[in-house]
Amino acid sequence: MTDFTVKGLAEQLAAGKITSTEIVKECLARVAARDGEVKAFLEINEANVLAAAAESDARRAAGNILSPYDGIPVGIKDCIAVKGERCSCASKLLEPVKSPFDSTAVARLKKAGFIPFGRLNMDEFAMGSSCENSAFQRTCNPLDTTRVPGGSSGGSAAAVAAGFVPAALGSDTGGSIRQPASFCGITGLKPTYGRISRSGLVAFASSLDQIGPMTQNVEDAAILLDVMAGFDPMDSTSLPNPAGGWADAVRQAGDLKGVRIGLPKEYFATEGLSPAVAKVMEDAVNKVRALGAETVEVSMPHTKYAVAVYYIVATAEASANLARFDGVRYGARAESRDLLESYFRTRGDGFGDEVKRRILLGTYVLSSGYYDAYYLRAQKVRTLIRRDFEEAAKVCDVLMTPVTPAVAFRFGEKSDPLQMYLSDIFTISLNLAGACGVSVPAGKDPESNMPVGVQFMAPALAETRLLQVARSFEKA
Ligand code: GLN
Repeated sequence: MTDFTVKGLAEQLAAGKITSTEIVKECLARVAARDGEVKAFLEINEANVLAAAAESDARRAAGNILSPYDGIPVGIKDCIAVKGERCSCASKLLEPVKSPFDSTAVARLKKAGFIPFGRLNMDEFAMGSSCENSAFQRTCNPLDTTRVPGGSSGGSAAAVAAGFVPAALGSDTGGSIRQPASFCGITGLKPTYGRISRSGLVAFASSLDQIGPMTQNVEDAAILLDVMAGFDPMDSTSLPNPAGGWADAVRQAGDLKGVRIGLPKEYFATEGLSPAVAKVMEDAVNKVRALGAETVEVSMPHTKYAVAVYYIVATAEASANLARFDGVRYGARAESRDLLESYFRTRGDGFGDEVKRRILLGTYVLSSGYYDAYYLRAQKVRTLIRRDFEEAAKVCDVLMTPVTPAVAFRFGEKSDPLQMYLSDIFTISLNLAGACGVSVPAGKDPESNMPVGVQFMAPALAETRLLQVARSFEKA
């Protein structure tokens, strides 16, 4: 297979050079050869993916393809429901649960003929930045297996970077698509809040969660966004705005003349920004200038509160969302003498330490007596962070920043939770603002040879501009 991208495979399928069955078998062979080491997948239902490929091939032979992408496999993060498959969120508590329905994102992929391919490992309930919080296995960074792939969509990033699948779905609540994409050297798009329905995405923090594509390039991300975006009656927060046309827009991306790119000074002055990332950013700034963009320094003064605000808002929402996993309504029940003990044992045994930590934090900040001091206050500061984005949008079209302060770290390196939380400093604000952003590979750290991504961010609904700028950058 000469070109393993979504677009490349679509072309080869159209030209009759390959079949869907061949693609799926190639994915399975690649997984068999290397996933024993990388451990990106929790499970692949081989019979199902082969059957779906055979159906796709039959449609193509009959001249009835569902879309040009009919027959292309896409890996699915294990918090996004696929009918009849397990959906465990990498948690022991949900290990036995099979989904009775498709998430809207997956239903739309299927409607275009894409084949959901396997369940990808993640941090338990999407809480984490390294995949180390999975209850089941430790996914490695395929570029250096002593390092983490990032998280929480680490399995998705690793699977794409290792070439197991042409593309994958992730979810991003505070950076979980963009950070692992950066760590693994791929592209990760967090669409505007509400662009892609959350129906069938297991909720972590409902006001922040968003599904998005993780791909080898910007055009593939646009293709998948086109397929999945748009209003869904099953999610009242999904946007009624017209969606689509991004792949076409990306194909027209030229230079950056007339584009104003904002460089938020707080992001570049962050303590802990590694020299390697700083250097890649410097080169990236020069590159966009050479492409004709005008760069402007902007200030986003509330950035320093983002991590604190996020860990109040997200944990508060998580504590409420995860209350349903009690072994009665959902989850693996620990049998006990009475109901109360059953609740305690189900949740005590079923949740990992990080999930428990978040539930405790979230319950605390919502408790009477502390609600005003923490939760209410955090909501107010969230508004200020959103205003930083609105102010910046008055003087620039997109923002350009680092994705992470440093390259992928080694397993166990960030053992203190606070240290781990602080590493999300550059990705979290975007979710709090509800805007859109993308991480694209931009260079390497010469010392570790690990990839470094750059993040572009744009206002809500500005995916066209965002993806065009990202594509121009990627081309150069
Ligand atoms: N790393 C962040 C956290 O642990 C973000 C996770 C995410 O985006 N799902 O919460």
